[in-house]
Amino acid sequence: MNNLDTVLLQSREAFLQYRTRSGMAKANFLEAIASEIEALGDPLIQKAMEETNLPEVRLIGERGRTCNQLRQFASMVREGSWVEARIDTALPDRQPLPKPDLRKMMVPLGPVVVFGASNFPFAYSTAGVDTASALAAGCSVVLKAHPAHPETSAMVAGAISKAIRACGEHAHVFQHVQDSSFEAGKFLVQHPLTKAVGFTGSFSGGKALYDYATSRPEPIPVFAEMGSINPVFILPGALKVRAAKVAEMYAASITQGVGQFCTNPGLMLSIQSPELSSFTQQLATKIREVAPATMLHPGIANNFIKNRGKALKEKGVTLVAESSVPAKSNQGIPTVASVNAEDFLKNPALVEEVFGPYSLLVISKSREELFKALDAIPGQLTATIIGEDDELVDYADFIQRVSDRVGRVIINGVPTGVEVCPAMHHGGPFPATTDSRFTSVGIDAAKRWVRPVSFQNFPHGLLPAELQNQNPLGIWRMVNNTWTK
Ligand code: NAP
Repeated sequence: MNNLDTVLLQSREAFLQYRTRSGMAKANFLEAIASEIEALGDPLIQKAMEETNLPEVRLIGERGRTCNQLRQFASMVREGSWVEARIDTALPDRQPLPKPDLRKMMVPLGPVVVFGASNFPFAYSTAGVDTASALAAGCSVVLKAHPAHPETSAMVAGAISKAIRACGEHAHVFQHVQDSSFEAGKFLVQHPLTKAVGFTGSFSGGKALYDYATSRPEPIPVFAEMGSINPVFILPGALKVRAAKVAEMYAASITQGVGQFCTNPGLMLSIQSPELSSFTQQLATKIREVAPATMLHPGIANNFIKNRGKALKEKGVTLVAESSVPAKSNQGIPTVASVNAEDFLKNPALVEEVFGPYSLLVISKSREELFKALDAIPGQLTATIIGEDDELVDYADFIQRVSDRVGRVIINGVPTGVEVCPAMHHGGPFPATTDSRFTSVGIDAAKRWVRPVSFQNFPHGLLPAELQNQNPLGIWRMVNNTWTK
């Protein structure tokens, strides 16, 4: 692991220089990365198609999202207020004690280790949101490439290297590690110079990294986004008026991208009624029509087959429908199963993620049983309520309870499709993530890689520009309890 030790030493060196770069310089760098990725053109898309089996249109869209993310972080750091500058000037004559001069702002943590995700080869990988947000925050980044798309990752890393040279940044502000062994990941997380970790993937992977990080002599923060089954509560009134439409929406959402999204609706819950039976039949018809498709890599496909098989064998679980088209190897079979709430409540295995095009319908006998089923669901990225306007009001308390255990509540939509904007929260209570206070989508993702520092009675010349009296950067700050620019 000598070479990885060198990587961290170089990352630390780069951090010491990069942390002093102005918002303008970091913005130019992030924009240059976006432009260099775009300049890779079609060969990047072709390589990603080859390595991930994802279709061209999806990858073109994901590349656009990735470059858009980089540019959103660039705008954020160029504008500058994101550092949350607070200035409380001294009151030397205050009685009974004088008040010191206190100024506070966010500062970068240090070198961040990022694990690229398999299911988003651009947006959550090499120059994805974890890397972009850490660079925006002023941290250096060591990226452990996901072994499922090594060449795609290397091409994007090459684009970042070009941007580093073009902008005159430290050569090691971003480093690309290709080593598909758990030992390498463990070493990077446990290295004393690593100050934070970003991860997207399985529960077992994220939890292992979290445990390495928190058992270090100096524990460090880990933002791990792990499994989520994104419950969907379908209320009776909605089924009375639009069962067919909801069935169509959900057949599409469950099977979108072969179900390989952290926001895939893996659990649907409703109350038994003739309308629910009709919804189930319509959903079954739609699911049978969707052909199986090739998954990201054989490991994910094997996991899907194994976990789907296990889920279908659980007590009380029955198959509602699966694709009527025979599956070839490494393909995910669109599947919907059902179980009654009584069996669901007795079996914690039924809330485990089956990563792929699978969803379980939980049928309650009553509204009370639906409430109990909610209590059996652990922390999630999202929850969705499908309901008519009047019943949403009637279920207001229930919706409040739903929001207590998720990061995003959706009314009358689908959880798949994550808008990249400042008001998006993509996170949620454990086990969806290891820290529900932070998002991994949108500009607030940079807050994962900073911490506040107060500067007390500092000589003015030693203060960061953001905290100086004359406000040389012209940013919004709270000065003596008043927002000023
Ligand atoms: P993964 O197994 O969690 O691996 C992701 C990264 O973490 C890889 O780089 C892997 O290292 C590393 N890693 C995992 N366990 C580790 C450990 N114990 N110690 C050190 N490093 C570790 O995810 P995946 O390969 O993308 O897919 C496997 C399964 O994860 C899927 O079948 C699916 O169930 C789940 N998944 C869920 C989501 C979601 O959004 N919910 C997304 C992707 C995957 P190596 O490079 O050495 O393999």
